[in-house]
Formats: sequence, structure tokens, C-alpha cells
Amino acid sequence: MQKIPVGVLGATGMVGQQYIALLADHPWFEVRYVAASPRSAGKPYAEAVAGRWHLSRSYGKGVGDLMVADANDVQSALAAFKKGDCAFVFSALEMAKDEIKALEEAYAAAGIPVVSNASAHRWTPDVPMLIAEINPHHADIIPQQREQRGWDKGFIVVKPNCSIQSYMTPIWALMQKGYEIRRMFVTTLQAVSGAGYPGVPSLDMIDNIVPYIGGEEEKSEQEPLKILGSVQGGTIVNAPGPLVSAHCNRVPVVDGHTACVSLEFGDKKPSIEEVKAIWAQFRALPQELKLPFAPEQPIIVREEADRPQPRKDRDADKAMAVTVGRIRPCKLFDLRFVGLSHNTVRGAAGGGILNAELLKARGYL
Ligand code: NAP
Repeated sequence: MQKIPVGVLGATGMVGQQYIALLADHPWFEVRYVAASPRSAGKPYAEAVAGRWHLSRSYGKGVGDLMVADANDVQSALAAFKKGDCAFVFSALEMAKDEIKALEEAYAAAGIPVVSNASAHRWTPDVPMLIAEINPHHADIIPQQREQRGWDKGFIVVKPNCSIQSYMTPIWALMQKGYEIRRMFVTTLQAVSGAGYPGVPSLDMIDNIVPYIGGEEEKSEQEPLKILGSVQGGTIVNAPGPLVSAHCNRVPVVDGHTACVSLEFGDKKPSIEEVKAIWAQFRALPQELKLPFAPEQPIIVREEADRPQPRKDRDADKAMAVTVGRIRPCKLFDLRFVGLSHNTVRGAAGGGILNAELLKARGYL
């Protein structure tokens, strides 16, 4: 099968590097276009990331020689698109929100689909915010998005915040079995790689916890409602619940976001054993379609009293699975558990790649 040529915007950053590494031997996609800030533009990729490559895996053959373009230069991407070097782009840009918003729209208007990691368009009503196992049907708003914007081939799809990945799929699995979740109390312990590079100063992080991540609690409380929402006409309408209260903390862990979660169910309450069985057996469309980046088992249940742990569990099933453990009754609500997922893979680049695979399988790419 001939691979689809793709571009990565923000290819030199923390998430961009994950894209480059994860796509190195992807069966469907091949990186043929890389772009970043004007600081990196005009350099071969290898030179642009020299001294700041963060991963143990290297970039793919050929990528080191690609000339980095300026991500603000949509015409350059369009030229690559016309030449057959860039059928769509993954966006991993870190800029002011309104700048990213305008730039991603300019790519889509030029006919280049954008699969984004940035938060800029998460609240745009006609832009789907996808977790492939939960709301793949939201992608079907794409034709209306195109019509409303006057876009021909381009479109924008985003993925949600990295910290909610650790518990959204588990709660969705329970909801699917008819268990209403009324309220959730979530405390996250988020890795430093979630802040990009160079991120949080080392003197703030070593021997310390920072109990504040700008904007993160609002995202954790609101984004689940859009993901669980419904497509009505040309917009996605938020679900009315659950009500979420989030505490988000930055902790001295390199990769892997942990979430300690308490759930209050509606009138019907599952037993602990039932919850474990529902999670262990949960499968969804990406598994049915056997998408290359889909974890075989999206939720892995650990029985050990001291798991999940970031170092031991973040890489489970290509770092795409959510690992849950410490499933026990809650004295305030009904049930407590700890969820963990890899923030720059499942929560960022891997999640974006899975979304692109889903879009390809549904005929949008
Ligand atoms: P990062 O390490 O700071 O990388 C930022 C990227 O954007 C770099 O490639 C940088 O290029 C480029 N860039 C910066 N300013 C630019 C400009 N003015 N014009 C064009 N390109 C510019 O950030 P990150 O952690 O990878 O995050 C990237 C995006 O993913 C953000 O929107 C973030 O919110 C989102 N995200 C991150 C995570 C995570 O776990 N880190 C998880 C989910 C979502 P240079 O190298 O040339 O400066």
C-alpha cells in the first residue's frame, strides 16, 4: 500500500518529536513535510532538533534531511500539498491561542485537513474533539463544518486535553453499560513533559509539587461534556453532565499523567467486580477496525495494591492503553480508582495519529 504523505506542524517540539518518532514506521502514513517556528525554519530537521531531541527512539529515515518550513507560511505547505508531499497535517503548535486558531483555519481553507493537538479549536462548536474509542461519530460533522466554512477539502479535528485521557475512557465504558455518572471528583498528578520543552524550571520541580497548571482545571471540567455531547445540525451540543471537580497538580514525573478519581453513580450502581469486568472487556470502534495505533485492550485493569505507576504502566500497549487500579468503594461517593495514561503518546501524538487513522477509515482522509 502506498503511504499517505503527512506534515507535522510544530515538529521540533515535545509533541512534534513524538509524532516524528511514532510515525517512523507507520503502515499508512509517512512524514514528508515538517514545519516549526521561524527560529527552526530553513534548517534540516536533524540540525533543528540537535541538542534538544527528547526521546530514546530516533526520527525516521529521511526525516533528518527534510528542510524545516515556517509553520506560519501556509503557501509553503500548499506547495507541498500540490506536489503530493503533504495530504494533511498534524498540528502540534504552541503559540498564542488566537494565532493557532487563525493558522489552523488558514490551512483548512487552503484545502489541507488539520488533525490538531492544540486547545485553540476545542470549543469551536463545529469542530469535533475526538477520543476515538468514545465519540468517533462526531467526525461526521465534517461535511457540515466544510459547508459552513466554505471549505472544499480542508477541515479541522482536535483531540482533548492530555489529563482527561486517564479517566474518560473508563467512565465512558461504564456509561455505555447504562450507569449514569452524576458527579466526579478528580485529582491529577501530571508529568512535566505535559508543559512542553523547556517547560517548568527544574528548580520548581525537583523535590516539589506545583498545585497549579494554568487553565487545566477548567479544561478537565468542561471538555468531558463536549466529548459526551451530541451532534445537532452543524454543531456539537454539550452533554448536561457529569459535574466534575478537578484539582490539577504538576509532579516530578517525566511522562505519564495519573488521576485519582471518585465517582458518584445515578440510582443504578455497579459492584466493584462488575466495574472491573466492564473495563477489562471494553472494546470500541478502533479495536473493531483494527486501526494500527489502537491498543488491543483500551483499559488494562491492574489488581496489585500499588498500581498503576507512571514508570511501570505508561508504556502499556504502545503507550496507548489506559491503566486503572485501586478500584474500591468511596466513602464520599460510590467508587474510587486511579487511572494512568501516557500524556505525550495517548494524550497527544498517539491520540492524534489514532484520530487520523479513524478519519482515514471513515473516508475523510
Ligand atoms: P513545545 O515543546 O513548546 O513545542 C512547540 C512547537 O511549536 C515547536 O515546534 C515550536 O517550534 C513551534 N512554535 C513555537 N512558536 C511558534 C511560532 N511563533 N510559529 C510557528 N511555530 C511555533 O510544545 P508541546 O508540549 O509540544 O505542545 C504542542 C501543542 O500540543 C500545544 O498546543 C499543547 O497545548 C498541546 N499538547 C501538549 C501535550 C503534552 O503532553 N506536551 C499534550 C496534549 C496537547 P521551535 O522549536 O522552532 O520553537
